[in-house]
Amino acid sequence: MPKIIIHDAVDPAVLEILNSRADMQIITITRDETARLSAELVDADAIIIRYLPLGAENINAARNLKVIARHGVGYDNIDMVAASAAGIPVATIGDANSITVAELALYLMLASAKQGIGYDKSVRAGEWWQAREQARTIELYEKNLLVIGFGRIGKLVAPRCQAFGMDVYVCDPYIAQSNIINAGFTPSADFADALAEADIITLHVPLNDETHHLINAAALEQMKPGALLVNTSRGPVVDGSALSAALASGHIYAAGIDVFEQEPPVVSDGLLAQGNATFTPHIGGLTRECFRRSANRCAQNALDGIDGNLDPSFVVNPETL
Ligand code: NAD
Repeated sequence: MPKIIIHDAVDPAVLEILNSRADMQIITITRDETARLSAELVDADAIIIRYLPLGAENINAARNLKVIARHGVGYDNIDMVAASAAGIPVATIGDANSITVAELALYLMLASAKQGIGYDKSVRAGEWWQAREQARTIELYEKNLLVIGFGRIGKLVAPRCQAFGMDVYVCDPYIAQSNIINAGFTPSADFADALAEADIITLHVPLNDETHHLINAAALEQMKPGALLVNTSRGPVVDGSALSAALASGHIYAAGIDVFEQEPPVVSDGLLAQGNATFTPHIGGLTRECFRRSANRCAQNALDGIDGNLDPSFVVNPETL
């Protein structure tokens, strides 16, 4: 009987799909049960995994594993070298969460531009008049937006920002630049120039060796005084200490941050002290609708992996197929 591990909480839709097959053994493992995860993986056929790390030791010990079904699209939490060497396909959910993250990027952009959290606190604290003494917020209209990474999510953010009257520039050296032009946006060939000209920057790249600290102290320095940064990609794409300093100095007007270098961040993290930042706890894919879509896709990927007919468009190491 094939054995499927569900690691961490997922939408019950997963169980509906898996239980539709009579011959499945379903094991649910919670976030903290690391020893149990290692033990159960040894003879498992599939694992549905959210964001917790899956390292080489566990992967190499999993003798029957036919698929790692990621409940998301970033796969930096999985040791891909080990998975590929062991011939185990890693399947993601494709575009199931793209619109969800794009909407969150828009929320963080608007919340940062309008300083929504701070004003909310002022109203609740009876500081109505103090809050209205100065004009502190900014508009999106006619601002230069730089979208870094024009994949599934970046492609949805760009037109939504254009609808706000922003001039949209795109930096993605790994795609045909004609795709950017044909979509109605301006390609940015030079990263440093693009940073210097942008009023608002939104990050939609994967985390890898090249993008680790892509936005570091030097990059922040290159940005316009008063620029606004949104990060819904991965925490380590931005140097959190450097961002904290740039927010404190006012060089960066505001930041909207869904993802952190360390998750959860420690409360003493200087970034959390910056009042001109708006935070969310890595909820880019966590709408009710998306949680269910993600669960459906993961469950299907798990079954398809066991059956040996995975859709290659979801597999990020297709050489394993
Ligand atoms: P995608 O693979 O469709 O697109 C990524 C794009 O980034 C590609 O077009 C690629 O060419 C481009 N890129 C790679 N390196 C680059 C670089 N150095 N400079 C500029 N562009 C570069 O991925 P996606 O579905 O759009 O997701 C993007 C990232 O968002 C994911 O890798 C993941 O880390 C993150 N994400 C976060 C959440 C969340 O909950 N906050 C949810 C989903 C995805």
